[in-house]
Amino acid sequence: MMIYTLNVRGVFPVNCYALINEQSQHGFLVDPGAQGEDILAVIHEKHWQIEKILLTHGHFDHTGAVNFLRQNLDIPILIHENGKDYLQNTTLNLSACCGEHILVDDASFVHDGDYIQLADGSLALKVLHTPGHTPDSVIYYNADGHYALVGDTIFKGAVGSTEYPGGNKTDLAHSLKKIFALPADTILYSGHSRPALLAQEQQRNQRSMSIN
Ligand SMILES: [Zn+2]
Repeated sequence: MMIYTLNVRGVFPVNCYALINEQSQHGFLVDPGAQGEDILAVIHEKHWQIEKILLTHGHFDHTGAVNFLRQNLDIPILIHENGKDYLQNTTLNLSACCGEHILVDDASFVHDGDYIQLADGSLALKVLHTPGHTPDSVIYYNADGHYALVGDTIFKGAVGSTEYPGGNKTDLAHSLKKIFALPADTILYSGHSRPALLAQEQQRNQRSMSIN
């Protein structure tokens, strides 16, 4: 299993991730937020067979290239069921206030505890619902590989913002607890930072909570 980071940029820079089984070249694409043509060129150049697009939440900077890629790849789009409104509402998904008009059609919905697998079973990601930044935020956790795709719930050196529509501080605190219950050596791949080690973020979080 390889995790590739594609640094794409629309209004904001965002990390799009490709999780690829190097034997089969099959894999998942996570949060293709912009530059769909460039992402597609990489997919073709590397001969990847992307089976599904996974979304960590419905903010437009994570979904901006979804429609383009679906049209070209004809694959399912997965998001938490609470993301339905975000995909269809440019105020909720924040694209309207950035002068963009990003909508996503025809997503399939995932739920807490679901497993998302490649067709040959070689990669399984567990869905953990982690609301707070948005009501539809999830992380995709791979226990064998000791990593999680965490979207905007937690970053290297920071936690997710709750200032946007649907944000909720209490929910975020519960979700961080859920994340910190994972093994300490889990690597967190976020939407807008370099990878983070769970143990370090947990220590940082405990310190900042004791100061406040
Ligand atoms: Zn976000």
